[in-house]
Amino acid sequence: MIDKSEEFRVLKADCIACRKCSIGGCVYEDCPGNVFSNMSLRAKIMVIGQNPGAVEVQTGRPFVGPSGENFDEVVMEVLGVDRSAFYITNIVKCFTPNNRSPRGYEIDNCQEFLEREIAIVKPEIVITLGSPALRQMTGVSGITKHHGEIIPSPRYRVNVLPLFHPSPLNFNDKTKRAAFCQELINLKRYL
Ligand code: URA
Repeated sequence: MIDKSEEFRVLKADCIACRKCSIGGCVYEDCPGNVFSNMSLRAKIMVIGQNPGAVEVQTGRPFVGPSGENFDEVVMEVLGVDRSAFYITNIVKCFTPNNRSPRGYEIDNCQEFLEREIAIVKPEIVITLGSPALRQMTGVSGITKHHGEIIPSPRYRVNVLPLFHPSPLNFNDKTKRAAFCQELINLKRYL
């Protein structure tokens, strides 16, 4: 039987080598623009964001910029755990020029990697952060309407909990931050 870390090593190498779209192989300030997951392969909860920003590329780690700091702060505050309790990844693994939102075809091209991550990690539940990740996992649009609902993803055979993206823009809105905290409580039983 192949162990998870060997499967994961192959997956990561395939992702780094991917050139399906022009952002594949990009370099930002001398750093490779491809950022993979935090490698918490035994986590029961998978967290899926959009794509890496400048700080993520500079450190080679997902969700460590301002949005990631907000995420870390809130999960500690509400659940009393750190990020190692989550497998953290993105729908698109590459930095985009000027940090623009990923295009539809970039999200579609990267889907293979997300599928393979889900197959390896086998999370008990997936948190999507923001609208694009919700749409990619469930086909459902509209984070403002659907945040906090548990939505099944028949394609990935897993339940999805959509949350607002923890960006500074969203978290400066106290109502959105409070919703994020309240909805995280749903996850206690998975820890
Ligand atoms: N925002 C995301 O959605 N993902 C990251 O990795 C960083 C910021």
